[in-house]
Amino acid sequence: MVKILAVANQKGGVGKTTTSVNLAASLATTGKHVLLIDLDPQANATMGSGVNKQTVKQTVYQVLLGEIPVEAARVSNLRAQYDLIPSSRDLAGAEVEMVALPKREIRLKSALAGIEESYHYIIIDCPPALNLLTLNGLCAAHAVMIPMQCEYYALEGLSDLVNTIKKIRMNFNPKLRIEGLLRTMFDPRNILAQQVSDQLQQHFGNKVYRTVIPRNVRLAEAPGFGIPVLYHDKQSKGAQAYLELAKEVLNV
Ligand code: ATP
Ligand code: MG
Repeated sequence: MVKILAVANQKGGVGKTTTSVNLAASLATTGKHVLLIDLDPQANATMGSGVNKQTVKQTVYQVLLGEIPVEAARVSNLRAQYDLIPSSRDLAGAEVEMVALPKREIRLKSALAGIEESYHYIIIDCPPALNLLTLNGLCAAHAVMIPMQCEYYALEGLSDLVNTIKKIRMNFNPKLRIEGLLRTMFDPRNILAQQVSDQLQQHFGNKVYRTVIPRNVRLAEAPGFGIPVLYHDKQSKGAQAYLELAKEVLNV
């Protein structure tokens, strides 16, 4: 059965895209069929997968508007062994255009109905906002993965996200659950990061993934080559951490 995982945090730059791309690639190396959906107009997951957001013609934008079926946007000849539904800057307009459409919150969910069973995992990279795009991601998902940096304000935004998830559960997607909180860009020498990490574990217990993603320059370099870090430097701490995370996800 497919598992659909939304990678979400309305806070910007916390590692959502890095996590989406590298988790997709890591899961795919275990032989799982994986689809990555870029739901962000910034299209970083698209570029990071080696697809040019400037020239790509068929994207998640047309899928959400109901102009093309999801298969028409799917890219499956990537260097990494996962399929991608790319995004482009047009998607920023979808926010406004979708408002007038019927069932605007579940357009992604409906679009996926035809193909979801061909995958073991579908990973949705959400934009840094609690907007209609993220809502579509959360309505389509079975579970949410929340990447976060262990810093002072990290916990503040979390309650807004948790409340949004509660509302979505009540109104659209009763089974949606938080799969886990992922500590990203972690620097063990930073005392504050250690303290926030401890706090997270106290509050959220086993909802916090055991795997910690370290700050690692290879992770930041890989998108420049349009490849997940595994294909850039498999031995790097970053690549190894995402392989470890994939194992943890597989065992949930
Ligand atoms: P946005 O909210 O804009 O979509 P995001 O949450 O998707 O951002 P990323 O794009 O994954 O965050 O990461 C933000 C920046 O930090 C990027 O330049 C990325 O390459 C870098 N980065 C992410 N994770 C790591 C890491 N573990 N070590 C070093 N750099 C990282
Ligand atoms: Mg991103």
